[in-house]
Amino acid sequence: MIVQTIQFCVHTGCSVLPGAGAGRYRAAMTAPLLVTEVPGPRSRELHAQRTEAIADGFGTVLPVFVDSASGGEIVDVDGNRFIDLASGIAVTSVGASHPRVVARVSRQVARFTHTCFMVTEFESFVRVGQWLNAHVPGDFDKRTALFSTGAEAVENAVKIARSHTGRPRVLVLDEAYHGRSLLTMAMTAKEHPYKTAFGPFPGEVVRATNANALRSGLDAAAALAEVERVIDAHGAETFAALVVEPIQGEGGFNVPPAGFLRGLAELARRHGIVFVVDEIQTGLGRTGRLFASEHEGIAGDLTLTAKALGAGLPISAVTGRAEIMNAVHVGGLGGTYAGNPLACEAALAVFEILDDPATLRNVAAIERVVLDRLRPVADEIPAVADVRGRGAMLAIEFAEPSSLTPLPGLAAAVSQACHRGGVLTLTTGTHGNVIRLLPPLVAAPELVAAGVDVLVAAIRAATTEAAA
Ligand SMILES: *Cc1c(COP(=O)(O)O)cnc(C)c1O
Repeated sequence: MIVQTIQFCVHTGCSVLPGAGAGRYRAAMTAPLLVTEVPGPRSRELHAQRTEAIADGFGTVLPVFVDSASGGEIVDVDGNRFIDLASGIAVTSVGASHPRVVARVSRQVARFTHTCFMVTEFESFVRVGQWLNAHVPGDFDKRTALFSTGAEAVENAVKIARSHTGRPRVLVLDEAYHGRSLLTMAMTAKEHPYKTAFGPFPGEVVRATNANALRSGLDAAAALAEVERVIDAHGAETFAALVVEPIQGEGGFNVPPAGFLRGLAELARRHGIVFVVDEIQTGLGRTGRLFASEHEGIAGDLTLTAKALGAGLPISAVTGRAEIMNAVHVGGLGGTYAGNPLACEAALAVFEILDDPATLRNVAAIERVVLDRLRPVADEIPAVADVRGRGAMLAIEFAEPSSLTPLPGLAAAVSQACHRGGVLTLTTGTHGNVIRLLPPLVAAPELVAAGVDVLVAAIRAATTEAAA
C-alpha cells in the first residue's frame, strides 16, 4: 500500500503532494467560501483608510484586503475565501506562496538581501541566466540580462537593439501593451487609462496593423502586407526593433492567425530589424508550453520575461542572441535592484516547478475544463462573441451579435457578479469587453472549474436580465 504524506502549510491549509512532483501545490478549498458580504467590514474600513493615504491613480479591481493566498485561493481579512482566476495578473503562476519559493527566499533573506550585481556578484544571478539561455526558444548562443520590472525589460531590449543596429525606431502593433514607463507607454496602444494626460511621449515609436481574427478582418497575409507597407513608408533602415506579444495580453488575449508571427519574424530578419518577443505575460508555462513562441515556431532575437518569473518577487529578463546582447558597452546595462538575490532565488524555485512535467500537464487539464464550460456558452448566448486563448490564458469576449459592437458594460457586470460570488476575474481588451482567466498554473483543475461555473452562471444571469 502506498501511503502519501500530505504537508499542510499552516497559514492557508494548502497542500503539497510530494509524491506527485513539485508542480502539485494546491489550495485545499473546492468552492468559494464567503462569510460576509463582499467586500466585508474589515476590508471596507481599510479601503477607507487607503483613500486617505494612497494616490487615487491606483484603480482597484476588487477592494478586498488580502490576508493570505496559495495556489488558487485568496483569503481576505474578513475570512472570505476566493477562487483566484487572476494570479495577480499572471504573476503567481506557481501560486502565491509555493513552499519551494518560500524555502529558497527565506534562506536567502537570512544570508543577504542585496549586493547590487554591478558592485559584487552572486551565484543565483548566473543560474537564472543559464536556465533562461537553455530554455528560451532559439537554437543559438544566448546571453541574459536581468532587471526588475517588465517595462524595464522592454526598455532595455530597445536600448540593446539600438546599440546593435545603430537605428532609432521601434515598430509595435495595434492593441499592443508593453508597460507604463514613458517609452513603454508610447509603445502601448490603449489610450485610456494608460496614456491619458501623460504626453508628450518619446518619439520614434511606429505602430502597424495587427491581425485581430475577430475584428480587423485581416488574415495573416493581408496583415503582413500592411506591416510591410508601414516599414517601407518609414524606411526599413530606420527600425532597430519590432516588438510583439505572441498573444496580446492587455489587448484582449488576441491569438494571432497562424503564420502571422512567423511572417513578422521573417520581415524583421529580411530588413535587419531585431525581432523582440514580449513573453512577459505569455511566458513560463502560461499557454501550456514554456513559451508561447513555441506554438508559432518562432524565436525572438530577444525574448522578454517578467511577471511569472519571480512568483511575485520583482524580476525581469532580456534573453537573446549573444552578438546582439553583447553589443552594449560595459556599464551600459544595469539597475540598482536588477536581478535582486531574493527574486533570483524565487525564479530558481519557479524553474524547478516548471521543470516538473506535472506542471504543464496541469495547464493542459486547466485548458480542458475551462473550454469545456465556455465553448457551449459561446454557442448558446449571442452576446458571447468569442472564446479564445491557450493553456491557462483564456478569455471570453462580449459584443453585439451582428455588429460586433463591444459590450464593456456586460463584461464589467459579469466580472463584478463573479467577485460577489467569490471568484476573482479580470477584464481586459482594447474595448474593455473581454473577461480573461489567468489561474495559477498549479491550481487544481476542479477548483478552476468551480470558478468557471460561477462565471457561467453570472453570464447567464446577466444576459437573461438584459433580454428581459
Ligand atoms: C505586464 C506587461 C508588461 C509590463 O510589465 P511591468 O512589470 O508591469 O512593467 C509588458 N509587456 C506585457 C506583454 C505585459 O503583459
